Amino acid sequence: MADTIYCYHCRLQHPKEEMRRIETKTGKRWRCLKSIKATQRDREEREAFGRQMTAINKAEAQSKARMALNLGN
Ligand SMILES: [Zn+2]
Repeated sequence: MADTIYCYHCRLQHPKEEMRRIETKTGKRWRCLKSIKATQRDREEREAFGRQMTAINKAEAQSKARMALNLGN
């Protein structure tokens, strides 16, 4: 078990080659690539979802504006 490092994120030991040393508020910590990638993916999905909602809201606002315009005629 010499080549494993404690992952603060999973609270588990992972093989050394899966680990990355990262800077946190409390100092340098070891975290596995898997958890880093999972976090990145979550953030990307949230951002993509946010962009989608913005697009929907914009489209809705435009259709409301069009409706208001039509009612004016
Ligand atoms: Zn981990």
